[in-house]
Amino acid sequence: MKSRKTVLKIISLLKKEYPDEFNGSNISEEPFKVLIGTVLSHQTRDERTIMASRNLFRKFDTPDRLANASVKEIRECIRDVGMYNVKAKRIKEISKLLTEKYGGKVPENYEEILSLPGVGRKTANILFTYAFGKKDYIAVDTHVHKVSNRIGIVNTKTPEKTEQMLYKVIPKREWRYINELFVQHGQNICKARPLCDRCVISRYCDYYTSKARA
Ligand code: SF4
Repeated sequence: MKSRKTVLKIISLLKKEYPDEFNGSNISEEPFKVLIGTVLSHQTRDERTIMASRNLFRKFDTPDRLANASVKEIRECIRDVGMYNVKAKRIKEISKLLTEKYGGKVPENYEEILSLPGVGRKTANILFTYAFGKKDYIAVDTHVHKVSNRIGIVNTKTPEKTEQMLYKVIPKREWRYINELFVQHGQNICKARPLCDRCVISRYCDYYTSKARA
């Protein structure tokens, strides 16, 4: 387990490495677009998610319009992302529910968000952080889970456990930045085959130090 001082040092180095990820540019975007964008982003690279989101919202920019679109029309807009068939159906179902049950708005209620089809804690946490500007959540996806475990900030088997542990070891004022910083690091440096020689936090990383000792 890392000391709080070391954790803060790691976060500070990552902020310097990825300055665009904590300047607030992603905060307070339209909740509906953040929600649908996060559904699209599952197991998909950022560039493809952005491309698909643009295509989709150019044609259908409200829950009502998406609820009335056919799955085929939605599918045509989002062909750039993985699992576009499943995602097209899910997006239509979510939009229908938002339109029929919540007057076309995304409810700012955590339990209600989790009850939407295919929406889990990661999506809910991203929505509450970036669309509703809350500071109470850390969205843990595969990158956040992997990077946290490699560094040795946590020692966990699932993203759910990682999320719970991160709340204990990271000061609350930093929670809102963790997803973006660790995802960037996981996509660019701490990949499946990590580029440790180019990593700015290697001296604090358990994976790196254990390999150096081996
Ligand atoms: S040193 Fe290697 S394993 Fe550790 S965080 Fe950096 S890239 Fe990942």
